[in-house]
Amino acid sequence: MKALVAHSSVGKEVWNRFKSGFFSKSGPSPHVSLHLSDIPEPALPHPEWVKIRTITSGISDIDEGMFVYGDFASLGAFLTFPFVPGNENLGIVTEVGSEVSGVEPGDRVAVDPLLSCRPRGIQPVCTSCADGDPSSCKNFFRGRLGPGVIIGACADTGGGWSDSFLAHASQIRPIPSNMETENAILLPEFARAVRAVLHHPPAPGDRVIILGARSLGLLTLIALHELGFEADPLVVAEQPFEVELARKFGAAAVVLLNPRASAYEDVAKLVAGTVRYPQAGRIGLEGGADLVYETTGISENIGDALCFTGEGKALVLMAVTQASAFNIAPIWFKGIQLHRSAFSGVDRYRGEVRETFDIAFDLVSSRGLPSSELITHRLKPDQHGEALGALQDRSGSKAVKVIFQHVM
Ligand SMILES: [Zn+2]
Repeated sequence: MKALVAHSSVGKEVWNRFKSGFFSKSGPSPHVSLHLSDIPEPALPHPEWVKIRTITSGISDIDEGMFVYGDFASLGAFLTFPFVPGNENLGIVTEVGSEVSGVEPGDRVAVDPLLSCRPRGIQPVCTSCADGDPSSCKNFFRGRLGPGVIIGACADTGGGWSDSFLAHASQIRPIPSNMETENAILLPEFARAVRAVLHHPPAPGDRVIILGARSLGLLTLIALHELGFEADPLVVAEQPFEVELARKFGAAAVVLLNPRASAYEDVAKLVAGTVRYPQAGRIGLEGGADLVYETTGISENIGDALCFTGEGKALVLMAVTQASAFNIAPIWFKGIQLHRSAFSGVDRYRGEVRETFDIAFDLVSSRGLPSSELITHRLKPDQHGEALGALQDRSGSKAVKVIFQHVM
């Protein structure tokens, strides 16, 4: 089958030194390259698994971090090269293991990518999985699969940047015929937004900021509204075209992040803070929002998100595009409560305790998503240079969500 395969161009010894932190700050980073290759189809690792033929696979912040920014901080030790990326997947089931029920070949499915205890066949599950937080699973290195947090970063499952990949039965959700493919494509990323909002919800009266109006930021804005929170978040966008989209999707106020000085002044007015200009170093903000969702994962933006967060208030880091060093001074001086929100878990919503992916699924089923405006680029896997280039140059390409479409 055809697959985009990620290779590391460094030798094993050098890679091991990278994993041990030797290169983490100032040394040269190993180079990772993508090649379109012919590789064998993956084989089911256990009768509880299915094989899926890819229809579409998105480029997530995690993929962008690795292949646009060359930043491995997010997955570093959890990666084994070579691997097939692609963690936001929609496909058709082509093979069903003998212990899977309720799924047939030909079913169209969306996939929750997390490879926690249950897909790994580990019983009893770890305390994180038992507590409904499988993103903090303690067994990403154990069980029936090799190391890897998600489908698309595990050598044994493959990923959606190829013709076929594997998933455990618990990870797939059959997509009914009345759900548009365009909406189903966005389910994995929307589930992450829903998780962040349900796990770190605004209290009544909270001043809320969403930093970033890329796809994850806009989906977080939509999730806040769809889940019924009355917070009117301030959205801080990186690009002028994103300002328009955020307004269209219901943002009460939108500020452009550049130039920084005017952005800080605008944010200060909206969250009742005071901008502090330094004699040396970077601009700061006294006061700030009660709750900030940082959705870009860009290190400089994370620094801004820290500044925009009020003393003792909460910052939720949702993306890992460029998770290398950022300015920690606001954490130190402002006592910010730092949280992260990664993949789906188990959440309480309207009196029911359910998997976040299923809550997101129901919202998309009943309300839909503005997918025609969110999905801006559909390219074939052999156009990966163009796809990644569109994300690298958002101001020129006006890219929001870029996906690989295997069948045009
Ligand atoms: Zn676990």
